Amino acid sequence: MTVVFDLDDTLYAEMEFVRSAYRAIARRYGLHLLDPMMRASSPREAFDSTGLPIADQLKVYREHFPDIRLPWLSLYTLSMLRNRGHRLGLVTDGRSVTQRNKIRALGLERFIDPELIFISEEVGSDKLSGQAFGRIMALCGENDKYVYVGDNPHKDFVAGNRLGWLTVCLLDGAFGENLFDQSLGGLPIENLPRKIICGLTELLDFDGFAKS
Ligand SMILES: [Mg+2]
Repeated sequence: MTVVFDLDDTLYAEMEFVRSAYRAIARRYGLHLLDPMMRASSPREAFDSTGLPIADQLKVYREHFPDIRLPWLSLYTLSMLRNRGHRLGLVTDGRSVTQRNKIRALGLERFIDPELIFISEEVGSDKLSGQAFGRIMALCGENDKYVYVGDNPHKDFVAGNRLGWLTVCLLDGAFGENLFDQSLGGLPIENLPRKIICGLTELLDFDGFAKS
């Protein structure tokens, strides 16, 4: 089985990255900026609180090497899946430099096959296009079984559903502060995950995950 993960708010809480960026901005432009940023209710509000040009803050936000850790339950799940012989991949939307820094900071290269890491800026199109998913199938073979685990029903499951993958949505319970709306009501059927989980370790109990 090939199990492919989204990155932000699936393998770690994206708010941890956001707070890391606030610390990097404060180190660069003044430590007094940190407290108001930490108390802001959104990144936008945090950037406004500093009075600095948005472009300067975004540059640090996107390019700093983040101080983030892989949560224990993610580490456990990834290593268990690897030990059981499954191939692991990553499909994430974002800038190459930002997502590559996160991957390195989280130590994901230990678990995830480098040729199965797809970042939208490098691919040239986002998840909805399905390009990264198609390339994974070309690499791993039409006869393999595929799973995609994500958190955002607006874009994470459309391509996988179309290609016959098992799509799995990790609900907010996992980290408690998801950056995006996860409500499934009112979404078209092609957006909906086939399964919903509240913690990554639930993957280990799925049929077919016991052994590859
Ligand atoms: Mg996500």
